[in-house]
Amino acid sequence: MRSAARRRADALVDLVSRSLRSGELPRARGTRPHLTVTASLETLMGLPGAPAARTTWGGPLSGEALRRIACDCGVTRVLTDPAGVPLDVGREQRSVTPGIWAALVVRDVGCCFPGCTRPAEWCDAHHLVHWADGGVTSLLNCALLCGHHHRAVHHRGWDIAMAADGRPEFLPPPWVDPQRQPRRNTYWDSVRGGRRGPPAADHP
Ligand SMILES: [Zn+2]
Ligand SMILES: [Zn+2]
Repeated sequence: MRSAARRRADALVDLVSRSLRSGELPRARGTRPHLTVTASLETLMGLPGAPAARTTWGGPLSGEALRRIACDCGVTRVLTDPAGVPLDVGREQRSVTPGIWAALVVRDVGCCFPGCTRPAEWCDAHHLVHWADGGVTSLLNCALLCGHHHRAVHHRGWDIAMAADGRPEFLPPPWVDPQRQPRRNTYWDSVRGGRRGPPAADHP
């Protein structure tokens, strides 16, 4: 259960992220938040015992928080020597291309967490197998998740698997369902069927 303060903070981050995404380039999700984070490869790969990542204002960032942020972002690699002196700078590479994003919106419509009604402009493209672990940025390895449910998947034990029909399914953590029966979001089904907007029953 999130505290009231936590919910307000999450809501603020969602609002800011949403306007940044839809501001300049709506078809390509606009400009995302710019955040510089310094981390070792071990931290990005989530290896046990890896040091915390650091933001430019000096705050530490846990390995899993870094992996959540880096799940859907632009990455510029700056290689440093052990003393922190830059040796080489790469070009920014987007983890999710506009083409992959467009295909995800066609498939998922909005957040694909069971019961969620947040549309795509509130969502990140989550990598089922993180790109830092060798996961590819493809339709079968990504799923749209709103900020709240992206946090649930990275930090609270929900797993996602791609079902045989190419749609994502959610495996609850054992404390939610000891059997871990797969669940789906059926909210967007009628939208996929060709209708615009969410199901009429939800908007009396
Ligand atoms: Zn993610
Ligand atoms: Zn959601």
